[in-house]
Amino acid sequence: MQSEDGALPVRSFIGLGSNLDRPAHQVRTALTALEGLPGCRLLRQSRLYRTPPLGPPGQSDYVNAVALLETWLAPLELLDRLQEIEWRQGRIRNGGHWGPRTLDLDLLLYGEQRLADPRLCLPHPQLRYRAFVLVPLADIAEGDLPIPGAGRLDELLRGCDPAGIEAL
Ligand code: ATP
Ligand code: CA
Ligand code: CA
Repeated sequence: MQSEDGALPVRSFIGLGSNLDRPAHQVRTALTALEGLPGCRLLRQSRLYRTPPLGPPGQSDYVNAVALLETWLAPLELLDRLQEIEWRQGRIRNGGHWGPRTLDLDLLLYGEQRLADPRLCLPHPQLRYRAFVLVPLADIAEGDLPIPGAGRLDELLRGCDPAGIEAL
């Protein structure tokens, strides 16, 4: 399929996470929202995983997943749409990093594009280090998936620690 101006779509991986207010339900609701995004098609979704929290102590476990979209949106437009979904699902940005949240949608990869915009870094800078992203990503991507600037998915998986991560 092509857009009206003939542009070809880009494959983009989105990381989903929640650790508040019925996390698995939040992630499933967000997957449905991704499915309905204009200018995008949801091609694949990983299993949902329960994962130990990162960041401030005392948080409850997260539920994480990864989705693959085919998109005709530009990277920053796609980020805007993802942030709208976060807002709709009650995300409160209080300035604190890595605090509890009803929904976090990270743009992990946008094709093989690299970008260092104040609002958007591509690939997501932490992708390469995070087992809770790499494990669900491996559900829906081949091992030779290139992560620009970081190598291939299978190499990164070998270097990460999947302790405590379990499929729901
Ligand atoms: P982390 O990015 O380490 O996973 P976080 O998801 O908790 O942390 P947020 O508070 O959700 O961080 O996002 C902070 C800002 O990061 C967003 O407002 C957004 O502009 C910016 N950002 C930069 N690169 C990306 C990306 N690849 N995907 C999503 N947001 C990004
Ligand atoms: Ca995040
Ligand atoms: Ca985020």
